[in-house]
Amino acid sequence: MYPQYTHGNEFDSRAPSMSLVYLAAVLERDGHQVTVYDASLGPIVRTGHVYRYGFSDEDVRQYLTEAKYDFVGITCSFTSRWRFVDKIARLVKDVTPDVPVAIGGLFPTSEWAYCLQECAAVDLILLGEAELTFSRIVQNMAGGSRVSEACRDADGVAWRSDNEIRYNPKTTYNERLDDLPFPAWHLVDLERYFKLQKKIFELPVPCLPVLSSRSCPMGCTFCNMYVTHGRAWRPRSPENVLDELEYVIKRFGVRHFYFVDDNFSLRSDRAKKICRGILERRLKIKYNFHNGLSIKTLDEELIKGLKDSGCTSVCLAVESGSERVRNQVYGKGLKTEKIFQVFNWCRRVGIPTIGYFMVGAPGETRKDFEETKALVAKLPMSLATVGIYTPYPKTALYDQSKEKGWLIEPPPEDENRVEMCSVMLRTPDFEPEDVAGWQKELYFCFIRHHWPTLLQEFFRPWGVVNGDMIGKFWGIIKFHFLSRNRA
Ligand code: SF4
Repeated sequence: MYPQYTHGNEFDSRAPSMSLVYLAAVLERDGHQVTVYDASLGPIVRTGHVYRYGFSDEDVRQYLTEAKYDFVGITCSFTSRWRFVDKIARLVKDVTPDVPVAIGGLFPTSEWAYCLQECAAVDLILLGEAELTFSRIVQNMAGGSRVSEACRDADGVAWRSDNEIRYNPKTTYNERLDDLPFPAWHLVDLERYFKLQKKIFELPVPCLPVLSSRSCPMGCTFCNMYVTHGRAWRPRSPENVLDELEYVIKRFGVRHFYFVDDNFSLRSDRAKKICRGILERRLKIKYNFHNGLSIKTLDEELIKGLKDSGCTSVCLAVESGSERVRNQVYGKGLKTEKIFQVFNWCRRVGIPTIGYFMVGAPGETRKDFEETKALVAKLPMSLATVGIYTPYPKTALYDQSKEKGWLIEPPPEDENRVEMCSVMLRTPDFEPEDVAGWQKELYFCFIRHHWPTLLQEFFRPWGVVNGDMIGKFWGIIKFHFLSRNRA
């Protein structure tokens, strides 16, 4: 099950959960009957400055009452989704007290003890990527084991046993990703998602995600990706990725994809083989990269390969114009010259670029921010997106901020908590309102210096500026305006 969630605006694109369709595919291959239920697919309801996406608790209860199931798994990516997951777990126990409830995802993986203590309806927590562990536990339980017996020898699981909490740390990650079945898209209502989908930059809907590798070894100090995927980069083979693209085209008629890898291009030779394969197999697809590409890994030949094989834009994470913030605070090890080199290559090859920036880092000063503004003014890009630094637990920057007493983190159950939209730090260098102001200022700086490109992109077929993008930008402005009024 996928829970309801809150967001800072009404322009979020509701994509099916990749982790759920991978889990479902593995369980189906094991011979189990699997249903995927997405509680977020209901209406969007605004309360104050926060938008709640999904069905009411009564609707979820009705679904649980009518459905037939022996085991329930619920995914919980962000902290702000915990209160919805907690509620669904309690509803399951209320309706079917004997059915075991498992949860997984980023938040429970980080805070497994908290989740088990807070919610008596949760029986076990899957830590990190869970296909192999979940498959084993479900097999054990189908064979008649109780939860505690089924979990005892499994890798990466925390569970409740006779009122005690037990824990097996996650020690292994799946190195043989080619052996996994393709995501079970046939188990979700794709048409419904396609109706609700917003454009991801220029890609028209319908489009589907693809995961060609897992994890990233770069070790940025703000990034918590390793909590679920481990620290070692694990690629799928180019052939396996191409087979999946071919399968999705044939079975679902979808030809637009967005890669959701943490680091698609870490090995340039593999990325180039995927590009060549798309052309050799005549897949005729269009694609982009939801999580962006690592600037450090790109060369001109790869950028050309991406363009020739159907890549419609690249999102490049610059983060900050200040080398001090980018490299000493965020730990990116990325020179300003390399940034200009890659953006210039993209312009020469003809791929639109979306520069990703982040404001409000611990220790960031107004002077650092001015350097970011100067870079945004000069960098040859098609669009800029500006996020607010969010301190994620289990990251070096979170620990430092906590130690210095800078966190203003709302508790997990706070209804106004919205990751990546709220400012969660107060430092000697800035107040939360300053950072919200920096975000707006950077957007306006970009518009002031790049408006001819923006207009060109808006009117160009496949341009990266569109109605959904403008709506999202307006949503960000409204979020800060409304949340300031609320305070
Ligand atoms: S490059 Fe991206 S995925 Fe890799 S550690 Fe840095 S932020 Fe995380």
